Amino acid sequence: MSSRDALRITGGSVHDPANGVDGEVRDVCIEDGRIVERLPQGAPTLDANGMVVMPGGVDIHSHFASSSCNHARRLIPDEHAANPALAPELLDGETPARSGTGGTVPSTFTTGYRYAGLGYTTAFDAAVAPLTARHSHAELDDTPCVDGGIFVLMGNDEYLLRQIEAGERDRARDYAAWLLQSTGGYAVKIVNPGGVEAWKGGQRNVTGLDDAIGGRKVTPRSILETLADAANALRLPHPVHIHANNLGVAGNAATTLASMEALAGRRAHFTHLQFHCYGGGNGQPWSSAASKVIEYVNAHPEVSTDVGQVMFGPAMTITADAPVEYLLHKSSGRRWTNIDIELETGCGIVPLTYKDKAAVSALQWAIGLELFLLSQDPWRVVLSTDHPNGGSFLSYPALIQLLMDRSVRDERLKLANPRLLAGSALADGLAREYSLNEIAIITRAGPARLLGLTRKGHLGPGADADVTIYSRETDLAKMFATPRYVLKQGALIVEEGQLRRALRGRRLRVAPGYDPAVLPGLKRHFDAFSSVCFANYPVQNLPGDPVPVG
Ligand SMILES: [Zn+2]
Repeated sequence: MSSRDALRITGGSVHDPANGVDGEVRDVCIEDGRIVERLPQGAPTLDANGMVVMPGGVDIHSHFASSSCNHARRLIPDEHAANPALAPELLDGETPARSGTGGTVPSTFTTGYRYAGLGYTTAFDAAVAPLTARHSHAELDDTPCVDGGIFVLMGNDEYLLRQIEAGERDRARDYAAWLLQSTGGYAVKIVNPGGVEAWKGGQRNVTGLDDAIGGRKVTPRSILETLADAANALRLPHPVHIHANNLGVAGNAATTLASMEALAGRRAHFTHLQFHCYGGGNGQPWSSAASKVIEYVNAHPEVSTDVGQVMFGPAMTITADAPVEYLLHKSSGRRWTNIDIELETGCGIVPLTYKDKAAVSALQWAIGLELFLLSQDPWRVVLSTDHPNGGSFLSYPALIQLLMDRSVRDERLKLANPRLLAGSALADGLAREYSLNEIAIITRAGPARLLGLTRKGHLGPGADADVTIYSRETDLAKMFATPRYVLKQGALIVEEGQLRRALRGRRLRVAPGYDPAVLPGLKRHFDAFSSVCFANYPVQNLPGDPVPVG
């Protein structure tokens, strides 16, 4: 079947929260790769009787297509040996199937196949240094089945810091627009604002929002304000995507709340919130500060977040937050990489295993679940494990089960080290169980809305015909791990649980306008400091049309 064909999915319980549909049995009609209102009698049908129909999954924050991921892949030859990924058996006449490697950071084709096998059809790589955007687009080209894009790192880049120091916030905004356009990016990402630059300059890190960075008149606060305002002024589909200062540090909830308050009234997305919700510090033991932080999120509709749940088992930490990775390497003794990306950002990588018997891992696991279970608005608190930082995207089904089934959660909690869990709302007993509709919100409709993707995350007319169909199972982890059918752009890519087609994904990027007056100064900056010629910097031949801005 090609994407031109029509198909009527009949008899399934449809969960399409963006259109107010909560489990109603109704047809979903597809034509020409899109959802349509109706089809003529006699159109081909797919029988979904007794099954659950949802839009394709949308991953708002993942690391799967970047030069950092490639460094991570090189760090774990043992995982490749343990998990060779054979080429799937695709239907005759389809694109050639490719073998690869699995583990915590699968190779590109394997990543695409596995996302599709999970019912996810859209994913964003959340941290790409502008200088390495070309590499990310090449990886996305080789990641089939998912429409994808990249968030572009800003906030530790020399040109931006100079503009902030000079009070040139309008120029900073034009620069952000030029950078997104030049790199084929989708959103502005900030990682540890100023902290990475401080680390590269020989400081250990920054400690709070008002630290001067490298003795300059630039602070984490001024970076947050400048880029949040830039993203909003440019009317980007997704607001600034923030990995706040002090990730992974005891007591960091104070910094997280201060960062949210610094941007009060401005639209902003705070990512992998679990890693930013710790109490204690200053000689006090680690504790959960999830309640306090989620209380703020609940009360502030301009704030959105993804959780960054930790799942027990192997993970790979990959981040532009290079100073954090130094700490993690020191405390874990695991192998590591730390990379400087000239004038722009840094990168650190350390493999990690979250063990239920380790007190801090158990606390992190509990905090993530607290955030989910205390959230009052699933549209603004969406699912992520910060793949592969908190765990692989392959663990989403197990996470969904923890959210939907209190008894499974409580049993798991009993196995976890309780040492740091005093004061955790989870340990005190949280009865909430997510409904199927809430799962559809936090895994598809919510992320799509937060990303401003009007054709994703729903099944209304005009939407991309990305659809996931699950057989009902009492074992919810199994149900969500093995969708019966997955459609991408209207084509059946998974049939009876088997990947059969591997369509090329589309690129999701923006191209906001900017005042060309910014260009001569930028060129002078490149001529003076960069190893890359200004004319060669923009990525050429980006695929597809940009998503409209405004
Ligand atoms: Zn991340």
